[in-house]
Amino acid sequence: MALFGGIEAGGTKFVCAVGSGPDDIRAETRFPTTTPEETLGQALAFFRAQWAEHEIGAIGMASFGPVDPDPRSPTYGYVTTTPKSGWPFTDMVTPFRQEFGLPMGFDTDVNAAALGENRWGAAQGLDTFVYWTVGTGLGGGGMVNGRLIHGLLHPEMGHMMVTHDHERDPFPGNCPYHGDCLEGLAAGPALQARWGQRGETLPPDHEAWALEAHYLALGLVNVITIVAPQRIILGGGVMAQPGIFPLIHKEVQRLLNGYIKLPAILEEINQYIVPPALGGRAGVMGAIALAQDAVLGQG
Ligand code: ZN
Repeated sequence: MALFGGIEAGGTKFVCAVGSGPDDIRAETRFPTTTPEETLGQALAFFRAQWAEHEIGAIGMASFGPVDPDPRSPTYGYVTTTPKSGWPFTDMVTPFRQEFGLPMGFDTDVNAAALGENRWGAAQGLDTFVYWTVGTGLGGGGMVNGRLIHGLLHPEMGHMMVTHDHERDPFPGNCPYHGDCLEGLAAGPALQARWGQRGETLPPDHEAWALEAHYLALGLVNVITIVAPQRIILGGGVMAQPGIFPLIHKEVQRLLNGYIKLPAILEEINQYIVPPALGGRAGVMGAIALAQDAVLGQG
């Protein structure tokens, strides 16, 4: 069976793997994201060594964003206007294509994670679903009618605007572009800035979590009403907080207020808004799925 390369190119770390799925990973490595030269160089070195041992059919990359996902664009495969120092307008794909001459898959980290969950995880058999990661940023991707969501760009669900009650929450938000967009109110850095300590150090009964669940539920209700997803998968560091899922379930039900009368919302919401089945591996598995699809796309 053909093997594939996957690169989860994150803003804080890269994960590279060779395999054909979650039960068949032949090699894997991870290293911190430093400069583009050093980090892409380490990824190239990993695949150079793997290339000598395995037949690799394609490489997929799941990248932090924003990216240019349009294959017709001259900057396809670039990380574009990122605030991450040294990385704006970095060509992520060409170095691999030049060295290995392989088909390349490329998409956002969240679209890739969505694809991984569709192939092997919590979105198997679904054609319309959403995947969010809530961590150092808040990103969303997913599929509509069986295709990963692309359009003018890629989804930027983290930057949707949500109601902000300044009396309940005087924190102004910390998105450099919007202040109190959803990411500016609910991503990990917002938790830390509002409460003066990192999210993972806040106890489960801290008021921070009810507020966090409220903001995430506001965003999720927007997504439910726009996309009509068959399921929503929530990953990322903030979602590792014990007890956050039940708070979100209750708050989504409260905000929808009986408007959508379906069992998925009213009775089985704990199977409707779920963690990723692939856990922290959704990104790199999604990158492998992108590689598989890059080969199919050629055929
Ligand atoms: Zn924003």
